[in-house]
Amino acid sequence: MKLVSACLVGLCTNYRGESCAVESLQQAFARGEVIPVCPEQLGGLPTPRPPVEIIGGTADDVLEGQAHVLQKDGTDVTDAFVRGAQEVLKLARLVQPELIIFKENSPSCGVNYTYDGTHSGRLVAGCGITTALLQKNGFKVISEKEVT
Ligand code: SF4
Repeated sequence: MKLVSACLVGLCTNYRGESCAVESLQQAFARGEVIPVCPEQLGGLPTPRPPVEIIGGTADDVLEGQAHVLQKDGTDVTDAFVRGAQEVLKLARLVQPELIIFKENSPSCGVNYTYDGTHSGRLVAGCGITTALLQKNGFKVISEKEVT
């Protein structure tokens, strides 16, 4: 079994209330081969929701309380992001997926890149908060760009 970002299988979970569907992952979902998860919804955030970026450090820094996740207007949603990551970790421990496929660039699910914290569309190397927590706990996470 694999865990996959819910937006990649066609569910409208992203901050705009839209999906980022990838056909091969939609098909795998239809065959019952993947479990969709959305850390931001599991953290209690609404859909749609304002876009956010990690400010002042890396995803690891957020998990250690040294950096924050902020909306453009400065609203701090760090607690919801950490809660969502912890919920996905709980699920992963139950399911023991052989692979996790997450949406690149997301502040939760990004694997190789996230936005730089300036809300200007610039990417920097680094992963999202849920990815960081899963990797710390020994789970293998790849981005959807590695399967398409
Ligand atoms: Fe998709 Fe992850 Fe964002 Fe949820 S948190 S919409 S699963 S990228």
